[in-house]
Amino acid sequence: MPKKVFIAVDLGAGSGRVIAAKTDFSTLELEEVHRFDNPGTDLPDGSYWNLIGLYREILTGLRTAVERYSDKIVSIGLDTWGCDHGLLDGKGQLLGMPHQYRDPRHEGMPEVMHAILPEVEIFAQTGVATNFYNTSLHLLAELKKQSPGLLHADRLLFTPDLLAYWLTGVQAVERTVASTSQLLDPRSGDWAWGVIETLGLPSRIFGDIVAPGTVLGPVRAEVGRQIGRSDIPVVASACHDTAAAVAGIPMTGESNLWLSSGTWSIMGIETREPITGPDAFKEGFCNELGVDGTVRFLKNIAGLWLIQECKRQWALDGEDITYAGLAELAKEAESFSAFIDPDDPVFSSPGDMPAKISAWCERTGQTVPKKKGCILRIATESLALKYRMTLDKLRQLTGRNYARLHAGGGGIQNALLSQATANAMGIEVVAGPVEATSCGNIITQMVATGHLPDFQAGRQLIRDSFEFITYTPRDTEAWEAAYTRFRELLDR
Ligand code: ADP
Repeated sequence: MPKKVFIAVDLGAGSGRVIAAKTDFSTLELEEVHRFDNPGTDLPDGSYWNLIGLYREILTGLRTAVERYSDKIVSIGLDTWGCDHGLLDGKGQLLGMPHQYRDPRHEGMPEVMHAILPEVEIFAQTGVATNFYNTSLHLLAELKKQSPGLLHADRLLFTPDLLAYWLTGVQAVERTVASTSQLLDPRSGDWAWGVIETLGLPSRIFGDIVAPGTVLGPVRAEVGRQIGRSDIPVVASACHDTAAAVAGIPMTGESNLWLSSGTWSIMGIETREPITGPDAFKEGFCNELGVDGTVRFLKNIAGLWLIQECKRQWALDGEDITYAGLAELAKEAESFSAFIDPDDPVFSSPGDMPAKISAWCERTGQTVPKKKGCILRIATESLALKYRMTLDKLRQLTGRNYARLHAGGGGIQNALLSQATANAMGIEVVAGPVEATSCGNIITQMVATGHLPDFQAGRQLIRDSFEFITYTPRDTEAWEAAYTRFRELLDR
């Protein structure tokens, strides 16, 4: 039996999981104790999350964990996607159901916001450029329509903060998730009060911010009765899932890059100071905060969404192929037959991805792929070349060289992509762990509860517990030539 168990609640925009991490502090083993769907719901007035449903699923998962591990459980931590939030009145009552970031209320808001404060200025103050999902735009929409929720709100809590409040009765805003709002100052780690006031948002709703790894307190007595133990503390872990993933990717030193590889690819560096100048803004980078006082200077790139959507389309057409099967098809196909820009907006919406890839190749005068393997190979190699482009921009913006890429997340199981990434970038790729997000959530709890001295010890524990695969660059000349072709194609 393990000596201790830590519970990670990891909510994604499609599903959620409760994970038990069992450890004797020399190795770590993860066990999924509960998994559930997280379907957003469209109502006549917008798109919402069923947060009470999620809360009940979390209780079910916690009850199962307590049944299995009872007094070995040390603490609970939550991480979720960023930006979304609920508003509470002075008595802690939720004022309206929380919207999804996809809710169309953001439409037209960038123009409204940038007329008040130019985007480059917002970037300088918050480190975040405007994206439809940012909390800033959604609050501005509520302000414009004088929504009763915002008028009566006393406190804003992000999704993981709100769920932690329901579990513990303690209201606190965790810093990594707050840094996705476009309303936080990445230098002070406090709210960007200048931006908040200029936009006319009510400053009273922006409460105290706590660092990732703050113990909030034990679960409420009622929660204790439902899950079978009333003395388990909830830790505000790295509450933004990307912050957790980066914490869980065991990098060594600042000469390394990280890649969180899943439905989307997020690539960046872990640094101490935000980079908020006009060049970083122009190149589409942003600054979010991480554990241990770090800044995640990062760029969002398209990801395995391209392959997920091909898989989905072929299944609709009657051929359900596993990811391993798709990888085989891609491996057998010819290299460099054509390229796409994975970040072209045509690829970001759902729907017949293979046809979209073929159409893109045709439109740009390239060989049109006919076979599945060929389509997959084009998507894979183009993604790797886009990573290379991001590496070049990072080199330019920071004036530094990078020796290695550490990649974590489900996408690293695609070995063809991992090798292509090493080849395209011309640097070593170290892949692992697949469960980077849960690992980061867990080590944050271990440090918070005094079971580990610091995050370095946490990353060492991850290194000692999971399999890591190192990919060294191959065929570099051919990949350099491909990169030249790729850039010319995207410059056209
Ligand atoms: P999310 O970002 O949605 O959490 P994950 O980290 O779970 O995504 O990664 C999911 C992606 O990982 C899938 O889209 C798929 O492309 C890839 N993947 C998962 N399993 C495998 C596998 N066995 N072989 C190759 N790729 C895989």
